[in-house]
Amino acid sequence: MKLICIGRNYTDHIAELENERPSDPVIFMKPDTAILLKKQPFFIPDFSDDIHHEVEVLVKIKKIGKHIQQKFAHKYYDEIGLGIDFTARDLQKQLKDKGLPWEKAKGFDGAAVIGNFFPKKAFPSVDDIEFRLEKNGSVVQQASTKLMLWKIDALIEYVSKYFTLKIGDIIFTGTPAGVGKVFPNDTLTGYLAEEQAFSIKVK
Ligand code: ZN
Repeated sequence: MKLICIGRNYTDHIAELENERPSDPVIFMKPDTAILLKKQPFFIPDFSDDIHHEVEVLVKIKKIGKHIQQKFAHKYYDEIGLGIDFTARDLQKQLKDKGLPWEKAKGFDGAAVIGNFFPKKAFPSVDDIEFRLEKNGSVVQQASTKLMLWKIDALIEYVSKYFTLKIGDIIFTGTPAGVGKVFPNDTLTGYLAEEQAFSIKVK
């Protein structure tokens, strides 16, 4: 399975990193070895002094497809989840400055938190699901999927032009503003609507 991640999908986050607003979605991948095993803490890797949390809504693909039209995209997923795209921001900046790929900064072991999934029919609309990340009990990121530049079905159309989507693939749909550094002993808890999707300890 693959993890397909979208960058720069919320205007407020584009502004905080002083990135350009993209004309197409920004896509990158994480390998399956990046998945943080359930109930395991996240260990800050020794190659970074600036690991950021990025809370993101996840979409789990349930049917193989390519060149999926937006109007049919809803047939390709039944479950929505929440996770974290951990990012070594210092390393990402070095790579970006050199015009190099980001994989080392985004795809390292443990960099993908995949929390619980919920049936999409539990939500009145996938295009307006509130979510938030709490760090040690305080809200640090909060948004709704209605603020995405490209909504879920548009992302599926775009991504499937380039990559065949397979059963079990997961799309990380991008992070809103409020990304920030994590420290040892932090607890990161994510909520999709009012359901807790994960709680991760940082070490
Ligand atoms: Zn991200």
